[in-house]
Amino acid sequence: MLTTIDQSFAHRVLIVDDEPSSLMILEGALSDIAEVICSDTGFGAIEKAQQFLPEIILLDIELPDISGLEVCRRLKNNPKTSGVTVIFITSHNESKFEHLSLELGGIDYIQKPVDLKVCRLRVGNHLKLKTQEQQLKHSQRLLAIESERLRVTLNSIGDAVIATDKEENVTFMNPIAERMTGWIMHEAVGKHITDIMQLCDATTKHKSLNPISIALKEQRIVAMALNCQLTSLDGRVHRVEDSASPIRDGEGNIIGGIIVFHDVSESIAMAVKMSHLANHDQLTDLPNRILLHDRVAHACQVSINNGFCVALMLIDIDHFKYLNDTEGHHYGDLIIKLVGKRLESIVDLNTTLARVGGDEFVLLLPDIKSTCHVDAVASDLVHAMHQPFRIDGKEFNLTISVGISINPTDSNTAELMMSHADAAMYKAKEHGRDRFCYFSDDLEHEFHQRQSIDKLLRAAIESNSLEVHYQPKLLLSDKKIVGAEALVRLRDEDGNLISPIHFIPLAEETGLINKLGHNVLKQSCKAAKKWLDQGHPIKIAVNVAAKQFTDPNFIENVAQVLEDTALPSSYLELEVTESALMRDFDETIATLNGLSDLGLSIAIDDFGTGYSSLSYLKLFPVDVLKIDQSFVKDMVVDKQSIDIVKAITHLAHSLNLRIVGEGIEEQAQLDMLIQLGCEEGQGYLFNKPMPESEFDKLIS
Ligand code: C2E
Ligand code: MG
Ligand code: MG
Repeated sequence: MLTTIDQSFAHRVLIVDDEPSSLMILEGALSDIAEVICSDTGFGAIEKAQQFLPEIILLDIELPDISGLEVCRRLKNNPKTSGVTVIFITSHNESKFEHLSLELGGIDYIQKPVDLKVCRLRVGNHLKLKTQEQQLKHSQRLLAIESERLRVTLNSIGDAVIATDKEENVTFMNPIAERMTGWIMHEAVGKHITDIMQLCDATTKHKSLNPISIALKEQRIVAMALNCQLTSLDGRVHRVEDSASPIRDGEGNIIGGIIVFHDVSESIAMAVKMSHLANHDQLTDLPNRILLHDRVAHACQVSINNGFCVALMLIDIDHFKYLNDTEGHHYGDLIIKLVGKRLESIVDLNTTLARVGGDEFVLLLPDIKSTCHVDAVASDLVHAMHQPFRIDGKEFNLTISVGISINPTDSNTAELMMSHADAAMYKAKEHGRDRFCYFSDDLEHEFHQRQSIDKLLRAAIESNSLEVHYQPKLLLSDKKIVGAEALVRLRDEDGNLISPIHFIPLAEETGLINKLGHNVLKQSCKAAKKWLDQGHPIKIAVNVAAKQFTDPNFIENVAQVLEDTALPSSYLELEVTESALMRDFDETIATLNGLSDLGLSIAIDDFGTGYSSLSYLKLFPVDVLKIDQSFVKDMVVDKQSIDIVKAITHLAHSLNLRIVGEGIEEQAQLDMLIQLGCEEGQGYLFNKPMPESEFDKLIS
């Protein structure tokens, strides 16, 4: 039976025969497997073939008008009918006809008298072939549509797509991929994926592995590393994100890889912008409360480890509400902005200035070494406001009240610091505004002390009433006085002496140190010159603060004093601390050389307490090391201190330096120093520092 033909395709068969009986028999035999059309002439056959487009023509060769062969030729020449399957029917049995008919495009050949069974089988088989051919064409059409659709899809999606073969060489890229890599597909095809996609880490700029390589190696879908950056052929940079996957064939074998990625530069920029907005105040663009809290908490955490203090200042504009109410919010906002700008202009980069409320700002100093520094910053803030603000020709006079909290003195968390600074700010308001207050009563007290010392110091410098005391320096071998250390003294209103440790750091902070130092140097050189003239060659040692040492006019000032006092420079020694020398190597060398050229000598004071790099010491033109008093004190009881002093004396001798032991209070300390080879010393065991008049008596 031939009923297996797929009925979804309607088959048509054209039978061409001039014998009506043949036509009838054949029609009858085939009508159940196809729609049958008949023609008894050649021209009729051509016409019907064009009209009905049969799949198969059973074509008799002998026809009354034109021969079946001619019909076949014409059908084959016409594109509309050229695809038809022609089966010839003939009574000829010469092979010549068979050849001819097959040459003309006939497919098959049936002998008359027709064996109907054979005929049905043949027609049936050809119809089956036709069906398959049509199915094939159909699926090819579908496939073509499908792949075209795929191409259109890949080309129109918003992501970049690059496909590679198994060897990671590019086989396809869509227009977005072309745009982002800077390559055009036909130039990229065949090149390795890493030549086409230059990927690196956006932060470290280290080259990143292409996800396709990983996907192919590990045979899985791979997401692109976070923070990935693609650099195009022409140098443009995109932040990219996405994934790669292996491509498999029908049997699951990997035949290549595909990577899909997109540009996230904008969303990252947006995220940065969003985070800025979330952390900053809109009006002033200063950090807001959220960011400030973060920084304060961080500073508190860090201070635990480094031992520095954290200061938090709450700054409030005095009577701002009144100003806002009388002048209007527009002016209020402008004033806030200007105040923010002015505050910002006087603080350094290491500090955070934040706006935390209407007229409230906060300044965070994350690592302070002395409270004097906090005084200085706070008083700068208060003074900065004294310059009037001008808006649209109007002048506004403002003051601020500042409250200060110090970690760890009065608080150790961000929250406590904020609330203590707030309380201190109210204290400043209560005390009359236009000022700053510490939360801690102790700090407040110390501040007032500093203020009064500062006043005394200024007055003493102004009135030339700073005192200098002198402590003799002796040769330890024969106790001969060979020198004196000049130590400055300040007297309070009641005539009591104030220790330099209370006012030297303050003077350094306020800048008074230069005048102070000059004054002491002058008095000391004058005294030394006097002793020299009286026949007592005393080398005078004068302390130099770090701030003085780095002053560009320092060498010139020293030279001037030597000239003014007529003291030969070999009778002057300058004592500099290690920390003052360890700032800028080149500058230090230059200053030390300049001073040495004057002919004076240089001592490193409090040696062993700083961070001297011993290798530097060799390069510095210094003459004396003064062993810090703490070692001298502990030497007798503590083995480690002896070892340190031993090491220092050893080092000094190998570098040809003199050693001075300071703070010698006991005979045992003296004995030990002598034993270790220390030549010179000073201390209460011999003399305390004394006024010039007493020193005069001592040496005469
Ligand atoms: P320094 O330069 O190390 O001075 C030695 C300090 O030790 C002096 O304290 C001195 O009085 C004290 N001293 C001396 N012998 C003994 C002793 O046997 N036992 C004890 N316990 N102490 C002794 P002073 O005068 O209070 O000076 C303290 C520091 O202030 C000085 O340390 C120096 O760094 C600084 N200083 C003093 N005068 C000046 C100055 O005119 N300019 C500068 N920049 N700093 C100065
Ligand atoms: Mg000294
Ligand atoms: Mg000292």
